[in-house]
Amino acid sequence: MIRWRIIRPFDPWQSPLCTCPFKYTVNPYTGCGHGCLYCYASSYIKDFFRPRPKENILINVRKDLQSLPKGSVVELSASSDPFQPLEEKYGLTYKVSREILLKGHKILYTTKAPNILLKYKDLLEEFRGKIAVAVTITTFRDDLAKKLEPNAPPPSVRIDAVRKLSEMKIPVAVRIDPVIPYINDDPKDLEELVKIIADAGALQITSSTYKAKPDNFRRLTDVFKDLREKLYQLYYVEGEYIRGYRYLPKKIRYELMTLIKKYAVENNLRFATCREGFTELNTPDTICDGSGFIRRTINKS
Ligand code: SF4
Repeated sequence: MIRWRIIRPFDPWQSPLCTCPFKYTVNPYTGCGHGCLYCYASSYIKDFFRPRPKENILINVRKDLQSLPKGSVVELSASSDPFQPLEEKYGLTYKVSREILLKGHKILYTTKAPNILLKYKDLLEEFRGKIAVAVTITTFRDDLAKKLEPNAPPPSVRIDAVRKLSEMKIPVAVRIDPVIPYINDDPKDLEELVKIIADAGALQITSSTYKAKPDNFRRLTDVFKDLREKLYQLYYVEGEYIRGYRYLPKKIRYELMTLIKKYAVENNLRFATCREGFTELNTPDTICDGSGFIRRTINKS
């Protein structure tokens, strides 16, 4: 039995609806500074919004790499943003990435700050083909994003980075995740967002609706006070309870995902849902987390 120190098999908090194939994950930082109202990881990690670097991370990464099977996919990061503000000070994501890639493994970055990744041109060029990026963009409206994700780079910056990464032939999936009723679910806005994403050169859209936990629901409705009652009704009265999360009623979730899929198809993008239980909506041969582009050779056009 392997005793992992810091690189661990991905555990989607036991969600029966997670369709991610097997991968590993490592978080160079504990907690996250982006401060997203809807963040799920904050329910599991103490002092989540007081991010700090992990101690002895490089020593532990090197030890774990001795046990990692050849050609593994490692996600940075499943429960914090690898390019959150601390990265500019400590550069741990860069250092950890080099160690992993030099050993012949592959990396999936999941981030709201792809502009910071772009600073690592050496990494992107040296390991092209072994890096894929999933960029979360919940709205194209910078003012709305400032409320939802107060410390993350604005969507306009993220979209620009998607374009630059795509031009460098780094495959990018964009996560429209979460979609929150009354906040970022306007069909016209979603249609425009998908178009902007396609124009920027992304290859895939992955989407998911907001799932309520007590702490993220409190944060969200403290900011969007006038929506408290309507959201409570949808999530806590009419919605479903699945493994620790309050979900929207299935019919609403299905309609939202079907709508975004329609826009994705119209723009020739692959589509997948995340933790919704609607795998029938996924484009064949498409992996929800965006790692399909580095797991095997698939048509990236
Ligand atoms: S970027 Fe991700 S991990 Fe960081 S606060 Fe936002 S949702 Fe949470």
